[in-house]
Amino acid sequence: MQLISKLPHVGTTIFTVMSGLATRHNAVNLGQGFPDYPMSHELTALVDRAMKNNLNQYAPMPGWLPLREAIAEKVELLYRAKVNPDTDITVTPGGTYAIYSALTAILHPGDEVILFEPAYDSYIPNIEINGAKAIALPLVYPDYHIDWEAVQKAITPRTRAIIINSPHNPTGSVLGEKDMEALRKIVEGTNIFIISDEVYEHLIFDGIPHQSILRYPYLLERSFVCFSFGKVYHCTGWKLGYCIAPPELMKEFTKVHQFNCFSCHTPTQAALAEFLQKKDAYLSLSSFMQEKRDRFIRLMSATRFDMLESHGSYFICARYSRISEEGDKDFAIRLTRDAAVATIPVSAFYQDGKDDKVLRFCFAKKEETLEKAVEKLISL
Ligand code: PMP
Ligand code: GLN
Repeated sequence: MQLISKLPHVGTTIFTVMSGLATRHNAVNLGQGFPDYPMSHELTALVDRAMKNNLNQYAPMPGWLPLREAIAEKVELLYRAKVNPDTDITVTPGGTYAIYSALTAILHPGDEVILFEPAYDSYIPNIEINGAKAIALPLVYPDYHIDWEAVQKAITPRTRAIIINSPHNPTGSVLGEKDMEALRKIVEGTNIFIISDEVYEHLIFDGIPHQSILRYPYLLERSFVCFSFGKVYHCTGWKLGYCIAPPELMKEFTKVHQFNCFSCHTPTQAALAEFLQKKDAYLSLSSFMQEKRDRFIRLMSATRFDMLESHGSYFICARYSRISEEGDKDFAIRLTRDAAVATIPVSAFYQDGKDDKVLRFCFAKKEETLEKAVEKLISL
């Protein structure tokens, strides 16, 4: 059989590679982003109850209605956004799927999509599988801000969308009000869509407010805003999220969704609809994760890594120029093998492998996990 690959340049995602290495070398895994502490037992009990109550058949295609209603209430509370649960929300199997479906709904061959590198690794393959072209612009090192003049210059008649991601994976940078204003100026009067990846909306530190697209009606009218319950409730393995978009955009999104997934796991949706009423569970998240970030930075100050800033997500990057001159992939592999600590080399988030000699660490871990990792890094 001859198969002509639609993604000839795509290999195995760095998350799988590094987690595989971590297992092989019995390393502390600060690579792939997932918590190693238990999620809420109250929430798992709600899923159990939903299953026992026979909520085990297909949910409606856009999602379990009480969940969509709870999401609409939440975004009104947090962002003053008026979102219609019947027409503007679709529950999806994760945030990655929401981003893929949005891109698939809008892209035609030859379209261009502007995104910022380092970029979450699904964006470019999602663009290319739709026959479109990724226009990757660098975030400005070392604080990884967006150069909006460069964005303006990159706009062409073929620009179909811009992907933003705040709080940002892998760098922990966040967008401010000025960024949203710059984005508005660029897209105003154009047919450019926005895909806003906001899966880390609650993981934002230092008192900085999350600049959701949902706060800006004139941006929301052209946007697909993507979220993930996995990040909010420490259950990345649940693969459940949602997309919010205006009705005309959601209509096209639904055309993709209905023949790819149709509907998501019903008992989990029923449980989340109830659990979302407990506002403290998501409102307390930023201080919970900020403590972990601060603890990790304090521990790492005893090593020869130089920490960069992180104001959000559950990641922080660090330079290792005082330890080694190796490329980041080689260094990350050696670190996993010899020091038994797995990380993610940030060059993996660049199409051309740009290497600023920076590693990404995930600090969404138990205290003892972070301590154990740093104990091993101190000797370097
Ligand atoms: N976007 C970013 C930037 C992420 O880090 C993640 C986490 N994997 C996602 C989207 C999607 O998460 P999921 O598909 O697991 O809900
Ligand atoms: N979002 C997670 C990370 O950046 C993992 C995603 C994945 O494994 N596909 O580490």
